[in-house]
Amino acid sequence: MEINNKLRALPAIERLLSVMAADPEIEHYPRELVTACLRQVVTSARDALREGNDSVASQAALIIQAKSLLKKHTQPSLRRVINATGVVLHTNLGRAPLSQRARDCVTGIMEGYSTLEYNVASGERGSRYAHVEEPLCQLTGAEAALVVNNNAAAVLLVLSALAKGREVIVSRGELVEIGGSFRIPDVLRQSGATLVEVGSTNKTHLTDYEQAIGPNTAAILKVHTSNYHIIGFTSQPNGTELAALAHKNSLPVIEDLGSGTLVPLAVGGQTEPTAAQRLQLGFDVVTFSSDKLLGAGQAGIIAGKRQYLTQMKKHPLLRAIRIDKLSLAALEGTLMEYSVGEPARDIPVLSMLHSDAVTLKERANRLKERILEQKTEAMAEVIPLNSPAGGGALPAAVLAGFGVAVCRQDMSTAHLEKCLRERDIPIVARIQEDKVIFDVRCLLERDLTDIAAALSSIS
Ligand SMILES: *Cc1c(COP(=O)(O)O)cnc(C)c1O
Repeated sequence: MEINNKLRALPAIERLLSVMAADPEIEHYPRELVTACLRQVVTSARDALREGNDSVASQAALIIQAKSLLKKHTQPSLRRVINATGVVLHTNLGRAPLSQRARDCVTGIMEGYSTLEYNVASGERGSRYAHVEEPLCQLTGAEAALVVNNNAAAVLLVLSALAKGREVIVSRGELVEIGGSFRIPDVLRQSGATLVEVGSTNKTHLTDYEQAIGPNTAAILKVHTSNYHIIGFTSQPNGTELAALAHKNSLPVIEDLGSGTLVPLAVGGQTEPTAAQRLQLGFDVVTFSSDKLLGAGQAGIIAGKRQYLTQMKKHPLLRAIRIDKLSLAALEGTLMEYSVGEPARDIPVLSMLHSDAVTLKERANRLKERILEQKTEAMAEVIPLNSPAGGGALPAAVLAGFGVAVCRQDMSTAHLEKCLRERDIPIVARIQEDKVIFDVRCLLERDLTDIAAALSSIS
């Protein structure tokens, strides 16, 4: 067929529209949107013919394409995924899932108005920061606390309030870059402070800090190397010595704890200091994320001495980095798990990090059985796995777990993995030795069923 005849053979928009209008699945979509989707698919069919594609798209094929475009309009881009990577704190997958209590708090205030900045006792304006200050002080032993948008903002605020126009001393071993181009030297510059680097990459001594202190020094900053680990010939002064040195010179010592935990954690051969322990050693201000090991939504927590927190509470930058009410509700609910609940059981991040090998092996076996119960071409076997904690936490920890390795003889592993990822509820897994690996550490019971169903429906 000649090209013009092929183009003419494509069905007219009007005709496709009348077929689609009769479809009960399509009824509730606005006619303009249906027309726009049809135009888009017919245009690409035309382009394909002009580019040398031989076959003229059928009416049925065009309608299927238009329907899938329509569906995209009602499907949020930000949506739930099933995390089969085994990485508990996966920054790309939204870090910490929330506990039931945290979700209840979010739902409760999301539906209407709230006491966000309203004091019910006085009937007057209240402070959004007041909701979590007391529990944070109780859980960290700090005199005062403040929450902002995230930990990056927390560090920026602390440095802007305490060190603008002056010097901040940091060890060369701690000039951390975390994901998303957050680098300590850049944040320092942004805050208006000047970085004074001391020591070397592997070793910094107390005397290095001491010699760097001068009339223009504002603070000593320690940064927790939460996403890397220096091993071998290394040393850093201990927290007590460093705090004593700072206080002898009337300086505050600040620590960016990064992942910051509220309860002592020892998983996968690594421990993480709690915020309370660091403050007790003599640190004046600590900052940490609320959506890493703490297990809440996005926020940055600043805790420490009242005299310093007061300066931050008055700082104009605070307004620009304030926490929103949904994150605040998630944080308050999560903090309640620590104060009145059972955090290791009820905070998903902690329970996943603590999952033992027996539990994980049983779960992997259940997943394998469900996969094999389906009429499927898939071959599945349970395998032992090691995974990192992820998300800038416990970088040296190796979490021993289990997973299911799956392959299909009728399709490539890469295709299988892609189909899983492109589902309405994407299933994110990794490929290892030409098999799709489902690590079960972060999977719920319903996820096991969904994965098995997905594997049998992919063709
Ligand atoms: C994760 C991390 C941050 C940034 O925290 P966000 O809450 O992601 O902004 C800053 N410093 C360190 C050391 C970190 O590990």
